[in-house]
Amino acid sequence: MRIFILFLLFFSNSVFSQQKEGVEVQKSRLLLLPASTVERSAGQQYQQMMRAAAQRGLLNRDLEQLERLRRIARELIPHAARFNRDAGKWQWEVNLITSKSVNAFCMPGGKIAFFSGILDALQLSDDEVATIMGHEIGHALLEHGRARMSAQVLKSIGITVAAIAFNLGNISTEVLAQAANLAVSLPYARTQEADADLVGLELAARSGHDPRAAIAVWQKMSKYAQAVGRGQPPQFLSTHPSNQNRIKEIEANLPRVLPLYQKNKH
Ligand SMILES: [Zn+2]
Repeated sequence: MRIFILFLLFFSNSVFSQQKEGVEVQKSRLLLLPASTVERSAGQQYQQMMRAAAQRGLLNRDLEQLERLRRIARELIPHAARFNRDAGKWQWEVNLITSKSVNAFCMPGGKIAFFSGILDALQLSDDEVATIMGHEIGHALLEHGRARMSAQVLKSIGITVAAIAFNLGNISTEVLAQAANLAVSLPYARTQEADADLVGLELAARSGHDPRAAIAVWQKMSKYAQAVGRGQPPQFLSTHPSNQNRIKEIEANLPRVLPLYQKNKH
């Protein structure tokens, strides 16, 4: 018996040490809505947003920056399946909207948008873009948007109705569209932010981008917020609330991803 326990200890230890490289994160729990429903609805919202930008002549105007964003996305995406197996089947998209808004997002299903404001105001390097994009992709991979849409739909239609109509065929497209919109316009929870940071670090490191750039990003972000004053904080900070612990947590996790960066750096 004692030998068996020793063996178990040894075995669990070795499993743990195998997993030590890379970060550890939690997947979302409240996932009432099927991923396919969430992705379809988010995709429709995304296309609508891109059409509106195109009509005003604000879509993908800076081809050099667009190509840079798409190249970095191509580097990050092959590593996404480590955090969500379905990501390999996603119809990924990356677009650049000309706007002063300091913002970027990735909707469920891999629909990425950057606003030119975040590139200009923060003068982002490739490594910095990679950590921001990786962070946003992290939210999508960990299904934070899906969890939030599920919660929103429950709120809108009521939990009893949801329980009865569990196949969800009765949810109107408006309710879904509203939920998809809220999913990118409301702040994330602190633990979701921390986990998205970790995924961003690992995706950046595995694609050969220096994960330490994440620290510079958050420093630039808070410097910029101070410079523009309280009246108009960057949109990115309102959906991704920051705090003093953030940089500390990133620093504490760097040893888990720096070896991956050393192995893969271009
Ligand atoms: Zn975030």
